[in-house]
Amino acid sequence: MIFRQLFDAETSTYTYLIADRETRLAALVDPVREHVARDLALIDELGLTLAYVLETHVHADHITGAGLLRQRTGARSVASKRGAACADLHLDDGDLLHVGNLVVRVIATPGHTDDSLSYLVGDRVLTGDALLIRSAGRTDFQNGDPAQLYASITTRLFTLPDDTQVYPGHDYRGFTVSSIGEERRWNARVAGKSSAEFSAIMNGLALPPPRHLAVAVPANRSCGEA
Ligand code: FE
Repeated sequence: MIFRQLFDAETSTYTYLIADRETRLAALVDPVREHVARDLALIDELGLTLAYVLETHVHADHITGAGLLRQRTGARSVASKRGAACADLHLDDGDLLHVGNLVVRVIATPGHTDDSLSYLVGDRVLTGDALLIRSAGRTDFQNGDPAQLYASITTRLFTLPDDTQVYPGHDYRGFTVSSIGEERRWNARVAGKSSAEFSAIMNGLALPPPRHLAVAVPANRSCGEA
């Protein structure tokens, strides 16, 4: 598998490029609109064909590149069935998406948003904003629900093998990758905490709203094309 982690410094967002070496078919996960040219240049340089653009959820902090990418490449955009209606293909828990010979397994991990999906590819899981490195995505808007997020993390993600590599949707402190075993042990919000304790932590965060919330959510519901 070809696997690349790309970064948007403005919003600390990770975009992932995954591709099958044999068929050269690729998928981009959570592309940022401002980086469409960068991402397409990399895909071209690696000799890949973009088949799919996947969202882990409707983002509140950046605008997706999905619409531009599908216009320019003919790739199909993919989102949760609870996510952006503009997507060409809607996925739900347990679905399998084939990218050439690669198989992407969909794990529904709601709680940060109600449409949040994680994607398992081989021994890597792309967790969006459900599970972050030593942290978890905020739960105070877009139908976020801390009890639901606790259940997603502990029953859906922490039940994966310990050596599964965790690739999050964001990191604000410079971390790039973790593992399920590491997060089970060291994630301060979840490790050793009950659902009620986790909810108390999440409800007490008092974070300011994301700067681009009012623009980003409606834009992402139309795949960044509006
Ligand atoms: Fe998010």
